[in-house]
Amino acid sequence: MTAVRRVQVLVVGGGQAGLAAGYHLRRARLDFAILDAATAPGGSWQHYWDSLRLFSPAAYSSLPGRPMPHQAGQTYPDAGHVARYLAEYEKRYELPVHRPVTVQAIEDTADGRLLARTDAGTWRTRALIMATGTWSRPFIPALPGREHFAGRQLHTHGYRAAADFAGRRVVVVGGGNSGAQIAADLTGRAAAVRWVTLRPPRFLPDEIDGRALFEIATRRVTGAGPRISDLGDIVATEPVRAARDAGLLTAHPMVERLTADGVVGEDGERWACDTVIWCTGFRPDLRPLAGFGLRGGAGRIPTDGTRALADERVHLLGYGDWTGPASATLIGVGRTARTAVGRIEGLLR
Ligand code: FAD
Repeated sequence: MTAVRRVQVLVVGGGQAGLAAGYHLRRARLDFAILDAATAPGGSWQHYWDSLRLFSPAAYSSLPGRPMPHQAGQTYPDAGHVARYLAEYEKRYELPVHRPVTVQAIEDTADGRLLARTDAGTWRTRALIMATGTWSRPFIPALPGREHFAGRQLHTHGYRAAADFAGRRVVVVGGGNSGAQIAADLTGRAAAVRWVTLRPPRFLPDEIDGRALFEIATRRVTGAGPRISDLGDIVATEPVRAARDAGLLTAHPMVERLTADGVVGEDGERWACDTVIWCTGFRPDLRPLAGFGLRGGAGRIPTDGTRALADERVHLLGYGDWTGPASATLIGVGRTARTAVGRIEGLLR
């Protein structure tokens, strides 16, 4: 039997959020480890589609300490560039990342410590930062007829390249960034594309990129200025703008049900297709905490910033704006990570 390993702070997840936490834990001189289920560095950036580009130039997509280098020939870097940057980042700061290690359950001990049960032994810790992201929990709405559809269904999670859909009649479901980007990617490459959204799509003004989004989110911390959601949902990246301006990115009413050979819209219109791509979002992957009793009435874990209200040893980092403004972004997660580590330091010392 392997011995239980001990640290002051355990980070679960080695994507950008886990690494940003690691950077600040290192600076605070705390003893910590990062456990990551993936076989390679880069978090979810390893899995994005080939045409995806960052919302912001490299200089505005950096984790604390180390600016992301420019990618030759690209103002907006691709996902592979980000994955390489993250791999280099963890090396540069000698972050103790253990992979592949999947944390299966978090448990309490009688003497006030936390145990992380993993597929490669047990870790004992005084404080925990969950940074597992959302990529491993794709969400698909329960629509009638899904089980009768004879064609192919996939989620954003499984989309890699438009070339895979040559000759296909594709329905893309979802009015967020993934839906708009994938619909734009497929126009002119698939045989036909129908983009369906719950509400009419709301494009952000063309001049708003990731850098401007971060500035808006930062101003909101002090309550000043509009919320991002007041301005729109979809960043008008260059390919999205081009498809929209060419009239190729027109949204149709949401799918009400699926049939064996197509979809029926909420307006009753039928459309024959052989592929449905669900760009319907993700949920925070907090399954290791399922038995730990932190959830509130609505099923979500109530937090004060990143800290779980019911347990001051547990912090949640990343996961959208839930526990810190812009904390699902490269440029935004550092500040929230610093605050979380500061609070953990206060608890431990
Ligand atoms: P992840 O990157 O998902 O990393 C989580 C890690 O935790 C993974 O390695 C996973 O294997 C591991 N893990 C999960 N469960 C366990 C477990 N039980 N035990 C151990 N390890 C576990 N952000 C930007 O800043 N700029 C952009 O331009 C941008 N564009 C985007 C475009 C799209 C289409 C999408 C989908 C996202 C985009 N994002 C962008 C957001 C960004 O990619 C994600 O929010 C970010 O990768 C989340 O980082 P994370 O570290 O929280 O999670």
